[in-house]
Amino acid sequence: MQQQYDYIITGAGCAGLSLLYRMMQQPFFSNKKILLIDKQQKNRNDRTWCFWEKQPGVFEKIVHYRWKQIDFYSNEFSSRYDLASYEYKMIRGIDLYETVLNEAKRYSNVTVIYDEVQSISNQQGLALVSTGKDRFPAPYLFNSILFDDWKHQVTQNKSIHFLLQHFKGWLIETDKDHFNERIATFMDFRVNQNRGTAFIYVLPVAPNKALIEYTLFTENVLESNEYNEELNRYINEVLNIDKFSVLHEEYGIIPMTDHKFSKGEGRIINIGTAGGQTKGSSGYTFQFIQKHSEKIIEALIQGKNPAITQAFAAKRYRLYDSIFLKVLTGKKMQGDKLFSLLFKKNPTETILKFLDNESSFKEELKIMNTMPAGIFMPIAIQKIATQLIGGLF
Ligand SMILES: Cc1cc2nc3c(=O)[nH]c(=O)nc-3n(C[C@H](O)[C@H](O)[C@H](O)COP(=O)(O)OP(=O)(O)OC[C@H]3O[C@@H](n4cnc5c(N)ncnc54)[C@H](O)[C@@H]3O)c2cc1C
Repeated sequence: MQQQYDYIITGAGCAGLSLLYRMMQQPFFSNKKILLIDKQQKNRNDRTWCFWEKQPGVFEKIVHYRWKQIDFYSNEFSSRYDLASYEYKMIRGIDLYETVLNEAKRYSNVTVIYDEVQSISNQQGLALVSTGKDRFPAPYLFNSILFDDWKHQVTQNKSIHFLLQHFKGWLIETDKDHFNERIATFMDFRVNQNRGTAFIYVLPVAPNKALIEYTLFTENVLESNEYNEELNRYINEVLNIDKFSVLHEEYGIIPMTDHKFSKGEGRIINIGTAGGQTKGSSGYTFQFIQKHSEKIIEALIQGKNPAITQAFAAKRYRLYDSIFLKVLTGKKMQGDKLFSLLFKKNPTETILKFLDNESSFKEELKIMNTMPAGIFMPIAIQKIATQLIGGLF
């Protein structure tokens, strides 16, 4: 096999482009040949990423909007929070795609190919990518294509919990000013909870413009008109807006599961959702991808294996995610009640740290203490026992 590239990245989505962007910023990679492959041109604004962070991030210049305050609403409890040292930020998919791919045009060591990857494998000590037309070997392959048929695997294994986080969002414009663009609605549970955990978030980007997303954590997706009905109802009845136009629509499905996505093997390193960077209990992925990319770059520069081993703390968070999923899938407690308790009884900063897998054990114990022991304790004990005898770990 003739090797032309030092690194191949399959998938030019969030994970592939976040990794490539960091590679282009480091002189270490300037004499390395990098190949990026995606099956489609990334020219559609197909998603909006929201996340929180304290410091400016690597994509700071394309942050589309940011908020220092968030609102939480449910029928039992509502409150406004200052995010203290955090900012809640929004990045539009198209801005990230264009920024990284335009930058790549300036680098003669980076090649971008649009073709469908049919398979990836390890052969003779190299990773091998096969498309319909070509085969590309390289010492390292960073793969963000979800080949793993996780849904089939989880439905076969009764000890794995899974839900789909699915949502439809509308960027709406109103003729009158309706929004306070300094405050984002993080979660509003004042929607029908009969289908399962469901909430709306409202991300205002101007006094008359906001992205409004209807999100559910359930086993099956809805018909398109069911999302529309709930969005219309919320906009009319809760936000009291009767006239608006939809400027843009986005739809997405994110796996929420304690299924262990493969980290890759041999010369293949899985990244992004395919590499287990989606948090099982929340679906948040963007910041986990950024942290993972940073670690991969660090390892490559230091001449270490870029297959990052899981820190012990990561296993702790997998346990919490798994408990949370069991509570929701087993219908032990309604999602709106669980999140209401979480927000009512804990400081926002701790909640955000916890959701980012960055809290201390002491903070986690405090959070656990605010949850109903009768529901959470038996599940926690059973999960810890399973893990001790080699289950999830
Ligand atoms: C609509 C939407 C909104 C989201 N919002 C948030 C959010 O607010 N915050 C957050 O933290 N997370 C969010 N997520 C979750 C997560 O951040 C995104 O899914 C993120 O894009 C995952 O990055 P990725 O690189 O793993 O996958 P992707 O970005 O989906 O990239 C995978 C790439 O692989 C390519 N590909 C797939 N199959 C092949 C093949 N056979 N050959 C070649 N190329 C292939 C695809 O074209 C794609 O470009 C959202 C997800 C969606 C769908």
